[in-house]
Amino acid sequence: MKSVIMMGSENDLKTLFNKFKGKTTIIGPKIPDGEIAIRYCELNNYDEIPRGVEDYQEPGKYRLMQGDFFRHGFDSPKGYLHPPALKIVRVEKGLEIKPYNYDPKEIVFFGIKPCDAAAIRVMDKTFTWNKDAYYNAQREKITIIVENCTKPGKTCFCATMGTGPRATENFDIAYTRINGKVLFEAGSVKGEEILMEIETLKPASNEVIAEFIKVMDEAYEKAKAQFTTTNLPEKLEINIANENLWKELSEKCLACGNCTMVCPTCFCFDIYDESHLDEYVDRVRYWDSCFTYKYAEVAGGHFRPEIWAMYRQWMLHKFSYWKKQFDVFGCVGCGRCITWCPAGIDIRENVKKASGGCK
Ligand code: SF4
Ligand code: SF4
Repeated sequence: MKSVIMMGSENDLKTLFNKFKGKTTIIGPKIPDGEIAIRYCELNNYDEIPRGVEDYQEPGKYRLMQGDFFRHGFDSPKGYLHPPALKIVRVEKGLEIKPYNYDPKEIVFFGIKPCDAAAIRVMDKTFTWNKDAYYNAQREKITIIVENCTKPGKTCFCATMGTGPRATENFDIAYTRINGKVLFEAGSVKGEEILMEIETLKPASNEVIAEFIKVMDEAYEKAKAQFTTTNLPEKLEINIANENLWKELSEKCLACGNCTMVCPTCFCFDIYDESHLDEYVDRVRYWDSCFTYKYAEVAGGHFRPEIWAMYRQWMLHKFSYWKKQFDVFGCVGCGRCITWCPAGIDIRENVKKASGGCK
């Protein structure tokens, strides 16, 4: 669809928010009371979206401070489309089996970043392929409103992964805050119709569009890693049997699994039966991680007990196997696994080392 950039103000952004307020669940950035990170939470008012705040991120570090632009915290839209705990069936007395019926509500993701919109596209591939009933029912009921990133952080590498800092697909509306102005762009017919209802928006002038392009070009340069994705799966797999390399790359890894929990595309889960003694048993699906010991435990043994092999599996799944299976990388360059790794392991450095870097 033809993209027309419209110019407005913060008031128009508030008008856009208020179009959904009271009618739909709005999920967006917020700093809940007593928390020290930006979370994706249910928003009741536009003013809950943090302003005057910046999130400083580097390997193993996250701090909120004064500023004018923030990226994201540790959670992502994944938690709403693929919940950390999901009841699947209940078995009642007399062995009557009752599947849980999913009746998802309409959700508007408001002000998520382009990498998170891209992560939904990556999850679409997996959950469509495995015909996941919950995901697909919820997926049909979401609207995606993205804020383009004018100031990528130190752990961002969306430019390398082709997912940002300007959203180019999988959104309904994208907005960009630049020097007191807010620019709007529709990414779907639904988004176009919503924007047409905001009468104060006007087509942006050539000067404003030039300013927008300049800001986004500068942001793009800041969101690059020191490797390229050209032939990346093949470059990485050349080293698949180089045990010493993987031991070196994972030397500091604690196998805590934080990286997989915060990753907006990691989808592994395990299934447990939770018994409520004489009443009923719930079968529940919980997020799992390829870094847990139990993950690779099978009858009669364990096929991946060493941390270096877990790390190799995780990295190759993101940057090689996923691409081969779904023609999309399993990494969107959000940088969460770098920020929230307690050992400060930087996946960009490791992909660079394992693939030979930029060539
Ligand atoms: S890479 Fe970091 S976050 Fe991931 S399991 Fe290892 S120590 Fe934990
Ligand atoms: S692997 Fe790391 S950088 Fe890539 S999408 Fe997952 S959390 Fe983000």
